[in-house]
Amino acid sequence: MSEKWTPVPEETQKKRVCYFFDSDIGGFHYGPGHPMKPTRIRMCHSLVMNYGLYKRMEIFRAKPATKREMTQFHSDEYIDFLSRITPSNMGSYVKEQYKYNVGDDCPVFDGMFDYCSISAGGSMEGAARLSRDKCDIAINWAGGLHHAKKNEASGFCYVNDIVLGILELLRYHTRVLYIDIDVHHGDGVEEAFYTTDRVMTCSFHKYGEYFPGTGELRDVGIGKGKYYALNFPLRDGITDQTYRDVFRPVIQQVMDTYDPSAVVLQCGTDSLSGDKLGCFNLSMKGHADCVKFVKSFNKPLLMVGGGGYTMRNVSRAWAFETGLATGVELSPSIPMNEYYEYFGPTYELDVKPSNMEDMNTPRYLDRVRNILSDNLRRQGGPPSVQMQDVPRLPIDEMMDDIGAEDDLIPPDERRHQRLLDTRRQADGELSDSDDEGEVRRLTVARRARGESSRASWASISAQRQALHLTALDPVPIRPCRR
Ligand SMILES: [Zn+2]
Repeated sequence: MSEKWTPVPEETQKKRVCYFFDSDIGGFHYGPGHPMKPTRIRMCHSLVMNYGLYKRMEIFRAKPATKREMTQFHSDEYIDFLSRITPSNMGSYVKEQYKYNVGDDCPVFDGMFDYCSISAGGSMEGAARLSRDKCDIAINWAGGLHHAKKNEASGFCYVNDIVLGILELLRYHTRVLYIDIDVHHGDGVEEAFYTTDRVMTCSFHKYGEYFPGTGELRDVGIGKGKYYALNFPLRDGITDQTYRDVFRPVIQQVMDTYDPSAVVLQCGTDSLSGDKLGCFNLSMKGHADCVKFVKSFNKPLLMVGGGGYTMRNVSRAWAFETGLATGVELSPSIPMNEYYEYFGPTYELDVKPSNMEDMNTPRYLDRVRNILSDNLRRQGGPPSVQMQDVPRLPIDEMMDDIGAEDDLIPPDERRHQRLLDTRRQADGELSDSDDEGEVRRLTVARRARGESSRASWASISAQRQALHLTALDPVPIRPCRR
């Protein structure tokens, strides 16, 4: 049988790839009608295996992260709460649920803490293997949960596997670059490292009346971290070509200026065309071009998942990107696999763009690029790291330092904006086949009661939006703070 891939022509050097997968991941459910479906990771894995990519990489089941490991970033109280709460005892934790923002976007479900442990364990172990030169690229599609905060859940994320992975990398690497191509701002990661130059965060995201409401152009970091946070706010409908025209030059300049020794790429696929919660117009290849470009710098690379709510497309893109990591392009026809029927009617791998309008004008993009470019020049080259900051410190000491820096971050008044408030679902879209029938049944039931599928979220939205007006302001381009 012929191979189900072709070598990437520009591939110069074969990478050692470690891929993390835990078969338990597909068994978790956020609840009826919730758009986040861990099954998408198993669908992706099924494609990866049936394309034969296991021949080109090492596959691991990571040790789930422990409570103690999670508290390297998160507060003890918060992790303790996550580990205790279950659907059957949640009635006794009403106050805590409010305090930790658990219940709406981030529901309590069976096995929630195990799910968090698997997600975080993969990113931490991936980082650890990269640091010990056991591989060149580590992949954890169950990770990428970029909205989780030190002390609260947010946007379907409870434990921030990315921050934990970066902390592991920082034990051996002087400078880590974080790049985020999810349609939402990478707020949890940015906030964690907002005051340090050891990590530079770069997020490309939809901005303006959109979850989580942060990620303005003028948010550049503070203190030692000033100019080490970069935000590219985008508008609806960005195409492959436009995205490439901003992503490549910005990342090139970041690499030249910051010169990181390791890179973390959050590959959220809600930036793909046709995503249930997204509003961009990227094809699979347009999304994957970011992976190709970041990989071309030949730095130790941790690739993680993230958002992505049209399951058949999430799994397509991540399988294709797994192939790219190993140096091949998967062939266009999807091989037989246990989820084959989800990929009809075309049974092709590609995710095609739609004809939606691109609201990102050349003038707007040029202006943003110029401002970001000026900010990067203000960095004045890669920061040096003093001996006391260099790794091999006991990890707890390092965590103490980061904890202290956190206190400098002003309280985020917009934190309770909900991801589901901003869903752009046309009527009837909820009946999409990849909701396993569950959502369809709910929608039918709601219609029978005369409700639209949005109604249940709208009332909460009104209450919350009253508290978080900043997220609804018009979106002017402001010059950066001087
Ligand atoms: Zn997202």
